[in-house]
Amino acid sequence: MFEKVLIANRGEIALRILRACHELGIPVVAVHSSADTRLKHVRLADESVCIGPAPAAQSYLNIPAIIAAAEVTGADAIHPGYGFLSENADFAERVEHSGFTFIGPPASAIQTMGDKVRAIQAMKAARVPTVPGSEGVLGDDMDEIVRLAEDIGLPVIVKAAGGGGGRGMRVARTADELQRIIPLTRGEAQAAFGDPRLYMEKFLTRPRHVEVQVLADAHGNAIHLGERDCSMQRRHQKVIEEAPAPGLSGEARARIGALCVKACRDMGYRGAGTFEFLYEDGEFYFIEMNTRLQVEHPVTELITRFDIVQEQLRVAAGHPLSIRQDEVTLSGHAIECRINAEHPDTFAPSPGKVALWHAPGGPGVRVDSHLYTGYEVPPYYDSLVGKLIAWGATRAGAIARMGLALNELVTEGLVTNVPLHQAILKTEGFAAGGADIHFLEKWLESRADGAA
Ligand code: ADP
Repeated sequence: MFEKVLIANRGEIALRILRACHELGIPVVAVHSSADTRLKHVRLADESVCIGPAPAAQSYLNIPAIIAAAEVTGADAIHPGYGFLSENADFAERVEHSGFTFIGPPASAIQTMGDKVRAIQAMKAARVPTVPGSEGVLGDDMDEIVRLAEDIGLPVIVKAAGGGGGRGMRVARTADELQRIIPLTRGEAQAAFGDPRLYMEKFLTRPRHVEVQVLADAHGNAIHLGERDCSMQRRHQKVIEEAPAPGLSGEARARIGALCVKACRDMGYRGAGTFEFLYEDGEFYFIEMNTRLQVEHPVTELITRFDIVQEQLRVAAGHPLSIRQDEVTLSGHAIECRINAEHPDTFAPSPGKVALWHAPGGPGVRVDSHLYTGYEVPPYYDSLVGKLIAWGATRAGAIARMGLALNELVTEGLVTNVPLHQAILKTEGFAAGGADIHFLEKWLESRADGAA
């Protein structure tokens, strides 16, 4: 096992990784910006190194500073968490070239999956079902693009090949609209991702977002841990996630899981990964693969009673997977609410000082958060300040527990989206289960109209 792991991240996920390392008896190096000296995991780490000023570009994205910190502290492996450098193939490569282990897949897999067009091609080769679309990058001929869209069938969604984080996507319902959005999306893709390439897919009108968690080792073994339903989204950003996906049959789970596992083996994938699908009328359509740990991994951990982060550490250290597919069993239902320091109605970020913190508890409640009384949320980073995860023997039981947990949570001084979660939990659409990806935005609009 590793002698010392450096965590190249911050916030709740850095704390989550620290806990996994410490459970395995591995000392931890925290690296942080000058704005983050008071982060919880920095205090709990065995060593810490300040790697730069507050802006992420000069600290959490500063590859030479992170590698230097690993050298100075004698760490032998680096865990990138999610976001920041976690899906940066260049970082993974430089980590490995400097003699450290990157806790994640091979750089080549990150590169392939980071290019959404290449990712779709890899999935087609592995016979994973994809969304009908342009089968490659769009050219410059607008007439050709319009013809293609008409063949696919309008509406279509135009996406940046190098995109991510829900940005660089636009929907066109008519040929005119398509001609308007192509240059806009191209410009945005160039500005945001330094890559103007676009592709196009059929826009599914009422899909759910269902994703499959996989784990693979360096010995050719791969398993899946079932799926998560992340259809509660606003602006393509997940707000609530759950596992298993309501109404999905064991047979459908086994079928899509086996396809993902086979794709992992075909690609020589290693580590944790997630295949994201749109799911409509009983069919799965691949949209992308995330080659890292995901924010919503805890819902899978609660229903499988399996620690995904510890397994990432084990397989990165060269150990075989510690469980076989037939040992993976799902039990009960888990739901996660993302707690953001933002206004529940306007969604404006609201950094500030936590005057009083109280975490909910009791059976089946998990809190992944770096907040504590007196901690000041800095304005420089993502507004996610914690995750509330509730488990129940049934979905209704998990919802009831989540309701109690949201009521118990105290984050005095901080404006959070807790009231939004409380309201979503009470909607009929959420209670029924299986709502599509447009449900939340439609409900938000109807609520705004009602208030006006
Ligand atoms: P990103 O990498 O930016 O997260 P994705 O390709 O994963 O982009 O898409 C993000 C979200 O956009 C999906 O979860 C879904 O809500 C919506 N979306 C993507 N592709 C389609 C599609 N073909 N039809 C309908 N909605 C889509």
